[in-house]
Formats: sequence, C-alpha cells, structure tokens
Amino acid sequence: MAAETCGICGGDGRIANSFGNTTTCPSCHGSGRRSDDGGLRDVTKTKPSHFQKPNKVAVVEKQNWPSTYEGAQLAKEVQACASVSNETKAKLTREIIDYEGSHGKCTETFTKKIRRQVRPPAP
Ligand SMILES: [Zn+2]
Repeated sequence: MAAETCGICGGDGRIANSFGNTTTCPSCHGSGRRSDDGGLRDVTKTKPSHFQKPNKVAVVEKQNWPSTYEGAQLAKEVQACASVSNETKAKLTREIIDYEGSHGKCTETFTKKIRRQVRPPAP
C-alpha cells in the first residue's frame, strides 16, 4: 500500500516554485496528504435528513404554589414546619393547591385539617 503522502510536495505541504519561494502545495493544499480522490467529502454528515433535531419535550407548567391568599399562607405554614418531612410538605402543599382548585378557596375546616398535620398537638 502506498502511503497517503502527497506525491507533489512529498508530504510537507509546501513546494518551492521556480522563483525560489515556497508556496502551498496545489495538490494537497498544505496537508501533505495525497488527495487524488478529487477532494471527495463525506456528504452524509451534512445531509439535512441526517440532521438531528433536539427532542422537544412539551413542558407543562405545573402549579406548585397556591393561588389564593389563604392557600399561600397555609402553604407557608406547612413549609415552615420543622417536624414534617419534605415529602409531607410537598404532599400537603399539593393538597392545598388541589383543594383551592376544586373549591375556589381554602375553607376554615380544610385549613384546620392541614394545620393539624403540621402542628401535632403536644403529647
Ligand atoms: Zn502536496
């Protein structure tokens, strides 16, 4: 197998012209590599059909905080509570959002129900 060295410049990418100056080899354009394939390029990489579009994920904006004043106050109490886990806080906040979503606001009964969970009575 012949080395892929340019036969014109001998692999250094430059040739000396008749005036004693060196110039970029017209055969390999300075790469020093044989290019007798006519400069064929890998066109598959630039084909539009091969262009990968980033996967678009439909992001649904989820409500994560109550929209009513009462609900927000209640959610704040839940978040401020040190005796419940973050999972419970998230669950209770979700309950508040769901409740005000279906009832329009947080009733006193519901507020009390939530408060009982974040403020357990002293033993
Ligand atoms: Zn060359």
